[in-house]
Amino acid sequence: MRYYSTNGTAPIADLHKAVVKGLAEDRGLYMPERIQKLPKAFFDNIQDMSFQEIAYNVASAFFGEDVDLDALKDIVYDTLSFDCPVVEIKDKIYTLELFHGPTLAFKDVGARFMARLLQYFIKQEGKGEQVNVLVATSGDTGSAVANGFLGVDGIHVYVLYPKGKVSPIQECQFTTLGKNITAIEVDGVFDDCQALVKNAFMDAELNQHMKLTSANSINVARFLPQAFYYFNAYARMKAQGKADDLVMCVPSGNFGNICAALFGHEMGLPIKRFIAANNANDIFYKYLQTGKYEPKPSKQTLANAMDVGDPSNFARIYDLYGKSHERISSLISGATYTDDEIRQTMKQCYEETKYILDPHGACGYQALADGLNPGEIGVFCETAHPAKFKEKVDDILGIDVAIPDRLAAFMKGEKQSVPMTKDFADFKKYLLSE
Ligand SMILES: *Cc1c(COP(=O)(O)O)cnc(C)c1O
Repeated sequence: MRYYSTNGTAPIADLHKAVVKGLAEDRGLYMPERIQKLPKAFFDNIQDMSFQEIAYNVASAFFGEDVDLDALKDIVYDTLSFDCPVVEIKDKIYTLELFHGPTLAFKDVGARFMARLLQYFIKQEGKGEQVNVLVATSGDTGSAVANGFLGVDGIHVYVLYPKGKVSPIQECQFTTLGKNITAIEVDGVFDDCQALVKNAFMDAELNQHMKLTSANSINVARFLPQAFYYFNAYARMKAQGKADDLVMCVPSGNFGNICAALFGHEMGLPIKRFIAANNANDIFYKYLQTGKYEPKPSKQTLANAMDVGDPSNFARIYDLYGKSHERISSLISGATYTDDEIRQTMKQCYEETKYILDPHGACGYQALADGLNPGEIGVFCETAHPAKFKEKVDDILGIDVAIPDRLAAFMKGEKQSVPMTKDFADFKKYLLSE
């Protein structure tokens, strides 16, 4: 498959290049030249297939030209070692729980898939050269990437995070792993971490010394596998005879997850329409109303993994629908919620149904409660386990959310990190000595 850039001026890339580079030379996002429709027989039988079988079919359509099918099957089955069930919350409203992966975040799937695909390409090159992944994190991305790449040979990961600015649970998820994962504790804020990573990619001497790549969420290998989730949701609803007028609602920040769902729709997945649920960062919502895309600095909210003021995957969605506001707004509607509304939703849902929403999922639930039309059935994504936001959830609901064993296990590990200043010269010296 050939991949072009949404900015239109970078050279066409193959999958290998798109995965290793992440972003195109003109700073656009890579898009596949074609999206293959899946055959009718696949959709006729989908309700009898497992999550892994469904995902392998979807992955073959995207990556089958570029990856040996046996290897691809191995990558898919290794990535999806857990379930993503659909749970009924109340009449007409269901949740797709995307938080059963190793770090209890939906980003686990994209991170693991990308790690294994990168490993496949490195082996194919056969140079035996180690690839170094640099990732800056304010919390969630670092844990998903670190765990996704853990133990994958030929790749070393450096996670840069701001000292004292990530939650204790998050910090444990990438500082206690050891092996091929090094945590770097930067005396600064998230932007300093990001600046160090960007400078490293641009430094000629460093790039000569070691092969550097990023595991940014705009990478095609990270966002496309999230399409698996939506085919699975459809299958599980179809098995119950409830898939005819399905509305899919996705709590969105950088819009990677919903973008994968839309790619699924282009492959023929019969979802009637989509809702992008936002917190107070309402740039996409405003775009739907006005046709104008006006990025703003992000606002801090309770659903902080969605605090994005210039969603990077907007460029993909815009490109996918031929830059047509009409096509976009007729398929996708929006919703936006303040922190007070998020709190209210969490309380109401808990009182009414006993289901514990996290602040991100709460936006999705409420968007369905507000936006579902007669005859429709809605599924919203629960993007994180409530225990990942334990302090907030306990405080809002007045309960003591149980911490799953997997999360508790991280907290027993010993923290190991390399202290670093925010000065690029120090970071460079450190990498050169590695
Ligand atoms: C990353 C994240 C989101 C937003 O996903 P996008 O793909 O960036 O839109 C929502 N909820 C949680 C918990 C996340 O970690």
